[in-house]
Amino acid sequence: MANLFPIITIRSSKPGPEGLIIAGVHGDEYEPILAVRQLIVELRDKIGKGSLTLVPVVNKGAFLAGARLGLDGLDLARTCPGKKGGSITEKVAHEISKLIRKADFLIDMHTGGNLFEISPLAGYMLHPNSEVLETQRGMAEAFNLPIIWGTSPLLEGRTLSVARDENVPAIYTEYLGGGFHPKGTEDLVAGCKNVLAYFGMLPFVRRDSKVTLKIEDNQPGSGHLQEMYPAPEEGIFEAAVALGQLVRQNELLGYICDYSNEKKIEVFARQEGKVFLIRAVPMTKKGDALAGILSAGNEIL
Ligand SMILES: [Zn+2]
Repeated sequence: MANLFPIITIRSSKPGPEGLIIAGVHGDEYEPILAVRQLIVELRDKIGKGSLTLVPVVNKGAFLAGARLGLDGLDLARTCPGKKGGSITEKVAHEISKLIRKADFLIDMHTGGNLFEISPLAGYMLHPNSEVLETQRGMAEAFNLPIIWGTSPLLEGRTLSVARDENVPAIYTEYLGGGFHPKGTEDLVAGCKNVLAYFGMLPFVRRDSKVTLKIEDNQPGSGHLQEMYPAPEEGIFEAAVALGQLVRQNELLGYICDYSNEKKIEVFARQEGKVFLIRAVPMTKKGDALAGILSAGNEIL
């Protein structure tokens, strides 16, 4: 059977870690896809030990549709470990899960896609195994995006859930969205190379840390971006805050108007903190995420 997605492996002649870098789990997140393509070009013959497997577009059906979800309406990042004989997203989940279980580490790159803007961050699950957790902290630090975010290990269906169950150290990244940002591709390529250097697969390059905020939050559901400030009704959303803004408790985050502009529902911040996710489009269905706030009080840095 032909592969469900392209897989490119770069091997060195020396034994070492087998890394896995993937993009396009969601089809509308483009900077990571271009970053993986650039890594394929740049790293050919450059890996000093071990091997690196690169998947530029995991979810080809969603990519060709320009959409987050697969053609069967499923979210690949809620479907892992999938099913061998299932629907297209279940099959893709099954195949990518097999690759993840074989890997020694995983980087899964995302953006906010068509609908969200998310502050550039590297995230990981607060893994119960301290050795895995320390490696994940090291990978996130090495990736060198402004925010480092450790969250509950209890989320299911993700590539990171498969990695967690197999004790494979794993991080994911987010980088803006709601439009294309060429700087994103550049920062993601640099971040992946930094992590490869962390594992000794590329020469170490001295760099200044860009990390400005480190948070570890073990509350259940803490990493679930799509459930943040869910819209109480469908309608037209207008944000009242911008990405990166500091907000106080009860500050207005935005409002939803119905189509005739007769009813306006205001959405207020439940906590003080930094806006790190904001809906990038007016289109809002009931239950859609509107905004996300990183709570003040959990900072390590
Ligand atoms: Zn995504």
